[in-house]
Amino acid sequence: MAFSGPLEPIDLDDDVLAEYLREADVPALLLTLVQLTGDLSLLPSGTAGRGWLHQEQGGLSPDRQDAVRARALRVLRDLRDRRFRAPPSAPDPDLLHTASSWVMGRDTTDLMPLLREQVQPPGSDTGAPDWKLDETAARDFRVVIVGAGPSGLLAAHRLSQAGVPFVVYEKNAEVGGTWLENTYPGCRVDVPSHLYTFACATRTDWPEHFCTQEELLGYFRTFATEFGLYEHIRFRSEVTSAQWDEQRREWSLEVTTDQGPVRDRARAVISAVGQLNRPRLPDIPGRDTFTGPAFHSARWDASVDLAGRRVAVIGTGASAFQFVPEIAEAARHLLVFQRTPPWMRPSPDYGKPLSEGALWLFRHVPHYAMWYRFVLAAPGLQGAPWVVDPRYPVSERAVSAENERVRAVLVAAMEAQLSDAPELLPRVIPGYPVGSKRVVRDNGRWFATLKRDDVTLVTEPVTEIDAGGLRTADGARYAADVIVYGTGFQADRFLEPMSVTGRGGADLHKSWNGDARAYLGTTVPGFPNFFCLYGPNTNLVGQGNSILFFSECAVTYVMDALRRLTGPGRPCMEVRQDVHDRYNAWIDEATRERAWGWTSVRTWYVNEHGRSPQNWPFSALEYWQRTRAVDPGDYLME
Ligand code: NAP
Repeated sequence: MAFSGPLEPIDLDDDVLAEYLREADVPALLLTLVQLTGDLSLLPSGTAGRGWLHQEQGGLSPDRQDAVRARALRVLRDLRDRRFRAPPSAPDPDLLHTASSWVMGRDTTDLMPLLREQVQPPGSDTGAPDWKLDETAARDFRVVIVGAGPSGLLAAHRLSQAGVPFVVYEKNAEVGGTWLENTYPGCRVDVPSHLYTFACATRTDWPEHFCTQEELLGYFRTFATEFGLYEHIRFRSEVTSAQWDEQRREWSLEVTTDQGPVRDRARAVISAVGQLNRPRLPDIPGRDTFTGPAFHSARWDASVDLAGRRVAVIGTGASAFQFVPEIAEAARHLLVFQRTPPWMRPSPDYGKPLSEGALWLFRHVPHYAMWYRFVLAAPGLQGAPWVVDPRYPVSERAVSAENERVRAVLVAAMEAQLSDAPELLPRVIPGYPVGSKRVVRDNGRWFATLKRDDVTLVTEPVTEIDAGGLRTADGARYAADVIVYGTGFQADRFLEPMSVTGRGGADLHKSWNGDARAYLGTTVPGFPNFFCLYGPNTNLVGQGNSILFFSECAVTYVMDALRRLTGPGRPCMEVRQDVHDRYNAWIDEATRERAWGWTSVRTWYVNEHGRSPQNWPFSALEYWQRTRAVDPGDYLME
C-alpha cells in the first residue's frame, strides 16, 4: 500500500472510460466535474446527501446519474487529449460553499473553516503545527507518548514536525494498537476506509470499501515508516507509572521493558493508550472450570482449530458480529449466546472490494478522491446524534420521530431478510432505541449465518459454565468444545493499569473513582502537563465520521497546549477545576438527552455510576471547534 501518490495520466480509450465511469460515486463525480469545469450550474436543485441510512448514489435519479456520467466522459476525454497534468487542488471558497451546501442540504457558511481544512487534495496537510521548538525559548523540552496506536502515531508525527524531542513507549512489539491486537476472523473497520484515514495521509488504493484488519495495520505501519516514527518508538515497553515532580516541574515515569525496568523524565506526557483493549470476561459461575480452549475475541487463539468442533460464542456486539459468520464456516456446530440483539444498519458495500473502475478513478481523475472523502464525511460532521425529543412520546422503541423512522427502515430490512425464518424476528429485533448501543454494519451475512442448520441462536441467559459446556436460565445445557468470548472491553477503566500521580500525590484513578472525566477528553485538574488522547467522552456514536478525525482534533489541541509550554523557565498548565466541572455538567446534561443516556438497556457506553464517560454527545463540528486552540482562560498557567 501507499499513501496517495501523484495522479497518473488518463490513458484509456473511450469505451473503457465509459465503463469505469459506471463504477463512479456519482455525487463525488459531479462535484469533481464542477471543480474541473468551474460550472456551478451543474449542481441540480435539491441535495445529494447520503444521510445516516445508506442512500444509493445520494438519491440522484438514474437519469441524472447518466447525465453526470455522460458529461464526465466528455470532460475526461478532453483532459486525456490535452494531456492534462496539473495536480489536484483545493476548491476555491465559493465552490466549496456551494458544493458542500448541496451535499449537506443546508447552508454551510458556519462549516467553512472546518471544510477548508478537511476538503483538501490527497497529499496535503493542513493540520501540521505552525511552530517549531527551536524558534521558542524552551530548553530541555521533551515529551513522552504512551502508546503507538493510531492516536499515539499521529501525536508522534506532529511532535516530529514541530521538532520536539519525544519517545513513544509501546507495550506491544509493533504499532497499530487495536488494529494489531484484534486479529479475529472477519475483523475489519466498520467506517468507510476512505474516511478511516488521517487527513494528512489519505490513501487512494484501499482495496475494499471497509478494509480488513491486515490492511489497516498496514496503513498504520506505513504511517510510522513514511514519517520516520519507528526510531522514536520503544517497543515491549509499558509505562507502569507516571508521577508529577513538583520541584522539577516534570513527569517522572517508570517503564517495564523486556530489558528490565527503565526510568524516564519528560516535561509533558501524552497518554494514547486507547480505550477498547482490556478484555472484559463475563462473571459467569464456573467459567474457569471449562476444560476446552476458551479465549476472548481480542486475544484470538489462532492455534485452536475450530474445524469439526462445537463452538460457543458469548456476545453479539460489534466484534462477534464480525467473527461469527466466519467461524460458522469451520465449526461443526456454532452456538451463539445473545443477551441483547444489536441494531443492524444495511450496508451493501460492507465486505465488498472496490471495483477496478472505482480504483482507477481515484488514481487518475483530478479532485475525485478529495470529493469522495468529503461525500462520505459530510453526514457525520453536523447534528448531534440520537437526540431525545421532549415533544415525542419517548419510549424504549424510539426517542424521536426521526429515531422511529430509522427504526422502521432497519426493522423492514430485518423482516425482508427473515421472510423465510420469521420465528427469528422477535428474538433479533432490539427492544431499545436505535443509537443506544453501537449499530453494526449489515451485509446480509449475520442472518444468513443464524439461519444455518449448524448454527443455534440461544437467547436465554447463560447461568453457568462447566467443564464441557454452558447452562442457561431455562435449565438447558449446551455441550461445547471451545468458548469464544465476544464480551467486550473494560472500556470505562480509562488509562488503567498505568498509575498516574499528580499534584500533592493525587492518584488519577482514585480521583476518578471509576467515573473518568476530563476537559475535552484531554486534561484533568491536578495533573499538569498531562494530556489524554481518545480520553473520556470522545467516543464517536453516529458512525458517520471517523474516530481518527477526533484524534486529529485532540492532537491539534494538545500541540497548541505544548506550544504554550515552550516559554522560558519550565511552564506548566493545569485545567481549572471550575472549567472542567462546568464542561462535564454540559456533557452529562446532553447525554441525558441522547438515546444511550436515556435508555435503560445495558451498554459499555454507560458505567456503573449510570453515567456515560464514553460518548461525545454533540456534533463532530462542535468537537473540532472546541479543539482548534487552547483558551488560556481555561487553564492555570505557571
Ligand atoms: P461489546 O459491544 O461490548 O459487546 C459485548 C457483547 O457481549 C454484548 O453483546 C454483550 O451483551 C455480551 N455479553 C457481555 N457479557 C455477557 C454475559 N455475561 N452473557 C451474555 N452476553 C454477554 O463488545 P465488542 O463487540 O467487542 O465491541 C466493543 C466496541 O469495539 C464496539 O462498540 C466498537 O466501538 C468497537 N469495535 C469496532 C469494530 C469495527 O470498527 N470494526 C469492531 C469491533 C468492535 P449485552 O449487549 O447484553 O451487554
